[in-house]
Amino acid sequence: MYDYLIVGSGLFGAVVARELTDAGRRVLVLERREHTGGNVYCEEKEGINIHKYGAHIFHTSNRAVWDYVNRFVEFNNYVNSPVANFNGELYNMPFNMNTFNKLWGVTTPKEAAAKIDEQRKVIVGEPRNLEEQAISLVGTDIYTKLIKGYTEKQWGRSCAELPAFIIKRLPVRFTFDNNYFSDRYQGIPIGGFNKLVNGLLSGIEVRVGIDYNKSREEYAEAAAKVVYSGAIDEYFNYRLGELTYRGLCFETERFTEENHQGVAVMNYTAREVPYTRSIEHKHFEFGTQPVTYVTKEYPADWHPGEEAYYPLNDAKNQALYQEYAKLAKGETNVIFGGRLAEYRYYDMDDVVERGLTVSKELLAKTI
Ligand code: UDP
Repeated sequence: MYDYLIVGSGLFGAVVARELTDAGRRVLVLERREHTGGNVYCEEKEGINIHKYGAHIFHTSNRAVWDYVNRFVEFNNYVNSPVANFNGELYNMPFNMNTFNKLWGVTTPKEAAAKIDEQRKVIVGEPRNLEEQAISLVGTDIYTKLIKGYTEKQWGRSCAELPAFIIKRLPVRFTFDNNYFSDRYQGIPIGGFNKLVNGLLSGIEVRVGIDYNKSREEYAEAAAKVVYSGAIDEYFNYRLGELTYRGLCFETERFTEENHQGVAVMNYTAREVPYTRSIEHKHFEFGTQPVTYVTKEYPADWHPGEEAYYPLNDAKNQALYQEYAKLAKGETNVIFGGRLAEYRYYDMDDVVERGLTVSKELLAKTI
């Protein structure tokens, strides 16, 4: 008999498992896949950690979260500086003075701001969708070359139908600074993300290859409470309908050369190129191997049963999620948390923070 059954061993489940265990609770982690770590899991090949479910770069401004993850693994000083490739023209990301110079030949922040101001005039009032938000942030040229195609591929729908908040993730700077993230702390775990997950789960009983939703009866008596980080609609057997996700497909190639693209992340922003990104994994850890692995990331429609990557937080899905959240409140012994259970586009640091908060709340109660 356990105190808690933890369903899912991604960052959320692993943090909660660690915290509850450290507070003396008996926990059992059930993981559907054959490995732990959810989508941060990496597969090692020839000394290179391949981000099997898409590139992950840890970044945060939350000192407590940064200190917490550093308890389990040391982080390197990788700084994410992706390059956008629009039909062979290369632009620095995020949008900054290097980008503006290459696009318009402007050399001062004042000139760049004037150019953007002139182009953003087409949007009047509060932006109502991603297209309007993007144009009002950076103007029409950047929207057309660097945002529209990429975003429409990634989400499989037009920018006019997408929520504005997605693009707010992308900084705009009037300095020559190619650091994609504006956070205080950033890096990749030295030795890879599996080290972080293994550290979080060390000494904790984990069963992999177990689909909780299919073996619920078997585990019904195993613990007093369940912390569930799987998909919320699946938990309720899709009784109100299916939530929509965006899927991804990956194609990895090995090259017998030391350096294939010169950067970890290259974004392909033209609509005609079917992939959105190409990832050269070794650059995340400054690898010097004589070979390299490069993964093309293709956005894809998602079907139930496949790995769900991005929640599609449009109005319809958000409303359906709210209905599921009401059902979840009725499950008094089950705590729902994480990207899939909360249907939220969480960054890793936010999900770690959420795991810490949920654990505190649980421990504040009696059990
Ligand atoms: N984005 C874009 N062009 C790019 C990179 C990103 O337009 O070259 C936009 C796009 O709308 C995307 C959003 O910024 O959905 C967030 O991108 P990010 O790379 O942060 O997404 P993630 O890393 O979570 O896949």
